[in-house]
Formats: sequence, structure tokens, C-alpha cells
Amino acid sequence: MKDVLLKKEHFNGFVESLMSSYKVAAPVRRGEKSFAFNYITEAEDICLNHIPTILPPKKYFLPQHETLLEYDTTNGQDMQAFVEMEPMVIIGVHSCDIAGIQCLNHVFMDRPKDYHYQARHDKILLIGYECLRKCDQYASCGLMQTHMPTGGYDLFMTDIGDYYYFSINTFAGKGMIGLFDGFSLADAEAEKILKKIRSDKKKLFKNETDVSLAEIPSIFEWGFDSHVWDRTAEKCLSCGNCTNVCPTCYCFDVKDEPELNLSKGRRVRVWDSCQNETFAIIAGGENFRAKRAQRTRHRFFRKFKYPVQRYGKFFCTGCGRCSRQCMASINLKETISNLKKSWGEI
Ligand code: SF4
Ligand code: SF4
Repeated sequence: MKDVLLKKEHFNGFVESLMSSYKVAAPVRRGEKSFAFNYITEAEDICLNHIPTILPPKKYFLPQHETLLEYDTTNGQDMQAFVEMEPMVIIGVHSCDIAGIQCLNHVFMDRPKDYHYQARHDKILLIGYECLRKCDQYASCGLMQTHMPTGGYDLFMTDIGDYYYFSINTFAGKGMIGLFDGFSLADAEAEKILKKIRSDKKKLFKNETDVSLAEIPSIFEWGFDSHVWDRTAEKCLSCGNCTNVCPTCYCFDVKDEPELNLSKGRRVRVWDSCQNETFAIIAGGENFRAKRAQRTRHRFFRKFKYPVQRYGKFFCTGCGRCSRQCMASINLKETISNLKKSWGEI
């Protein structure tokens, strides 16, 4: 499918045409340096040049509180699966957050499939937006190689001056382009500008740490007994902020919420966190990760080792949210660097 161009002055018109067919969510400003994905009613509210939003777009794929089924035992046993979801478009998703959604896709669409996740996933269209400068000192998208678009979107837009360059990746993406008549075909000149922007970007987005991506597997292979976990855990408050804001964390709890008459109710899924002390308690009261250092280590191993064994990919996108939001100033890049330095010092 041939890529297209949109004059910047027509962007709001395109968004309005999307809003006439879909619910539309996009990054909006919340404070001087804080942004959130919200449903929008005005195209002007969109803030494309945002740093990672407080919560990633995973909240639309895996809501914090989701009804899985409703039951009614008034006349026998009646249980109905429940999916609250309308078709929607998310505009302005950075490549690191698209990478996060791809991690969730592996988990929930692997067997056994999670049909609630699948139903939501199928109703969400993604329009990516290319970062042309680094967000802040917490980001490590250069290290994790998530700074360039590599698929997982329907459309992907890049600022090339007077125009946005739209890469079309799916038929659904083409369908969105068809809703608005302000697009023109990308010509050779626009392709040349895009190429130049990308090659300049590669020089700008360098690795942000003294650790290389290739070193991470051996650092984690060795690092299970490192003293780094005890030292990091001395600061940790076990608040779970780091996992709540992470685009690839997906642990959840399932609970029944009966109504007062006890014959009707619903089964809900809510976010949980491996940083909570109670998370790994099993029947009989045994806790597999009662110590904070064990929970801290587990979080890092769930990003840099276990998913590599299971899916062949890292589950950290380098978005920096965990470090940005940590009340104890625990920094992911520093922790990995300290782990490397502790090599041989167990
Ligand atoms: S946000 Fe920071 S203090 Fe809270 S659990 Fe995570 S690492 Fe610990
Ligand atoms: S571990 Fe931290 S930097 Fe990595 S994806 Fe999660 S929130 Fe982003």
C-alpha cells in the first residue's frame, strides 16, 4: 500500500472524520511534564509531542477493572461473558508503547487465548507517531531498540515539515485514510526527507547506559544472587507504582463481586502487582517471595530474562515510566548498570 501525506493544517479535520466513526483516544496534557491518553472530543486537545503518558495505552487493552462475566442464579445458573468495548482509534502512540502492546499480544494471544483481550485488541486501531527527540533522562528506548517503528500499528505518522508522512501498515489503516479526502500520495521527495530524518534520528538515539543490549542476557544469567537486589530493595517501598505504569506488566487478580441479594453478581479482573507482599502467597499461607529483595529481583527478571526464554524478546520497552514514577528514586538503567558492575562480587 502506497504511503500518503497530510498537510499539517488538515490534521484536525482528519481527526474529526475519525471521531465521526470511532471513539478516539489521544495523548493530552495533564501538567507541565505530564500527559495522559484520554478520550477526546476536540482535535485541538491532542498533544503529539508528549513524553510517555502516566499510564501506557495498555489501559485500553487490559483495563484496570474489567468485568469478565455476569451471573444470575435467580432461575438456575446463568452466566454470560461480558465485553464492554466499542471500536476505537488511539492516535499518537510512540514506537516504545507500540512495542509494549506487542509484548501483551504475545502473552494474551498465546495459547490458551484470553478472549477478552482478543476482543478488545480486535476493536482498537493504532496510529503511531514518531519521536524525533529523546524524552528525558529516564528513557532507554535506544538501549532497548524500540525507538524506530517496526510494525504493530495500522498507520504511523512522521513529521516531515509542512506535512505528516503516513505509513500505511494494514487494510484497516487504509480504511481510516479513506475517511478523509485531504491525503495525497507520498512522492519521491517526501520519501527522501523521511529517509534523512530517520538516519539523523539514529545518530541521536544512542544507547543511554554503559550496558549494551547484547550483554543483558549474560548479566541476568549470572545476576540472580547479586547483592544488587538487596541494595535496591533497601530503598523500595513495595508500592507497585512501577508495575502499574509499565506497558508490559500484566499480572491480574480475578474476584467475584456479588450483589446484596447474593443471587446476581459479576466476576471482575483487576490489576495486581508482583511488588505487593501478598502477591505470591499460595494456599496454606506459604509466600514464595516474602522478601522485598526477591520481589524486586523478580520484576527485573520478568523484563530481561524470563520473557526472553519464553517469547524470545525483552519485555522492557525503555519507556522510563517505572523510574519516572518511583517514589524511592529506583532507576531501571542504574540498576542494570549496577548489576553489570557487581559481576564477580557476589
Ligand atoms: S515504584 Fe519504586 S518503590 Fe514502588 S515498588 Fe516499584 S521500585 Fe519499589
Ligand atoms: S520496566 Fe520500566 S522502562 Fe521497561 S517497559 Fe516497564 S516501565 Fe518502561
